[in-house]
Amino acid sequence: MTAQLDVVNPRTGAADYTITPLSAEQLADLAARMRAAQPAWAARTPEERGEILNRFAQAIRQHREPLVAALTADTGRAGISRTEADTIPHLLARWAGSAPAIIARSAVTGFQTSHPTIDTDLRLVPYPLVGVISPWNFPLILALIDAIPALMAGCAVLVKPSEVTPRFIRPLMDALGEVPELQDVLALVEGDGATGQALVPLVDYVAFTGSVPTGRKVGEAAARAFIPASLELGGKDPFIVLASADPQAAARTALRASVVNTGQACQSIERIYVARAIAAPFIEALVEEAAKVQLNYPDINRGDIGPFIFSRQAEIVQGHIDQAVAAGARVLTGGTVETLGGGKYLRPTVIVDVTPDMAVMREESFGPVLPVVIFDTVDEAVVQANDSEFGLSGAVYAGSLDEAEAVGRRLDVGGVSLNDGSLTAIVWETEKSSFGLSGMGPSRMGDSGLLRFFRRQAIIRQRGTPLPLAAYGEGNGA
Ligand code: NDP
Repeated sequence: MTAQLDVVNPRTGAADYTITPLSAEQLADLAARMRAAQPAWAARTPEERGEILNRFAQAIRQHREPLVAALTADTGRAGISRTEADTIPHLLARWAGSAPAIIARSAVTGFQTSHPTIDTDLRLVPYPLVGVISPWNFPLILALIDAIPALMAGCAVLVKPSEVTPRFIRPLMDALGEVPELQDVLALVEGDGATGQALVPLVDYVAFTGSVPTGRKVGEAAARAFIPASLELGGKDPFIVLASADPQAAARTALRASVVNTGQACQSIERIYVARAIAAPFIEALVEEAAKVQLNYPDINRGDIGPFIFSRQAEIVQGHIDQAVAAGARVLTGGTVETLGGGKYLRPTVIVDVTPDMAVMREESFGPVLPVVIFDTVDEAVVQANDSEFGLSGAVYAGSLDEAEAVGRRLDVGGVSLNDGSLTAIVWETEKSSFGLSGMGPSRMGDSGLLRFFRRQAIIRQRGTPLPLAAYGEGNGA
């Protein structure tokens, strides 16, 4: 691990912040201290843990201003930074309120087995130390989305956010400082990929959010360490517009679901398939809506979308666009990354005449890019939408929900939005798997988001007389 790392400001391109990653020894010491503190945390009742997390929520509300300021500097966006800071107290309250009942109904006491004298309890035993490794696109939410249910389960949680967006860590730790009961069971550490790598063998469960290549590495490291891993990875979500859809409404929705947060969301719409019958008005409306989108430059408090958080991502996206154009695609609006005040921006980019082999159709762009394909039959649309290594989520827009659902059920993805797009970004109560390369492991949504942090322990009581060896003898059953 390096001594000090520079952090670049996405609005200015200047390195104006530094972090000092822990050494491998310091990280191991921290993990050991947290592991030692965890049994006392797990010994509290779920209601007590919930009460403590509610106090953490209150502390975060009190530290909102510095937290929002740090997130804003991290990401170059103001509105979503406020939303991030306001989402966490809700998430804490939600798990604090719901976890006790989920735990109570999942544990079983005194179950009578098929053996008349034997009954069992099913106990939920938390993994002692959970490691969380999180990305830069929603720095605060993705650092805590798995950490909060893990804490409610009774685990200690060690979080390694991305080196690209680490400024929020210090104000969050300040808020944490006001809740003494959490001091030794929740920590966020500054560091880079090497810190993430060092963390995996120190923990008992790793919850990772990030790209497929890093996810593979983390999955392999977890297998070597013989610990379970939840991997939440990238996507290339399709949006199918059926002939019965209102083309203007569908275009507005596709645009929003594609460009929110400058497209830097795993569940962003990255491929659009539209029925030939309404393709012309749909594309016209899409271009019109795309052209209206304003950058939050120069005033961060105005406009719709911010800069790329990570400038290397801007290069990747430009590469996808350029390659598509070189192969015959046409850009109808947007298309060129602009450097404004040192930040990298891209206006929503609508591309037509794309082919399935282009990177813009196959690889995750993670930018506000909307390639549009026209289809003749629904079967053709479904085949093309499913022609992806990813399977995170997708959407279908139609004149009726029934029609949308009939097509949506045929998508090889873990979450399907009907007559909307990217609903998995706001609906967290329903479990969903990530199909294909989009991930592995139990759902982070729904009850499983909590229950995955427990091992199951069977307590088995013999209330009668244990069987003698003769009952198992070779002469039996002859
Ligand atoms: P990366 O995979 O580059 O990084 C994710 C995290 O892993 C970072 O904290 C990174 O540290 C760390 N890391 C890097 N190398 C290693 C390693 N060898 N071992 C352990 N940890 C390591 O992802 P991005 O930050 O670029 O995030 C964008 C990706 O996240 C996109 O693919 C997006 O789709 C996905 N994502 C998925 C979501 C989902 O729910 N499915 C939600 C949101 C995003 P550092 O940054 O410091 O190098």
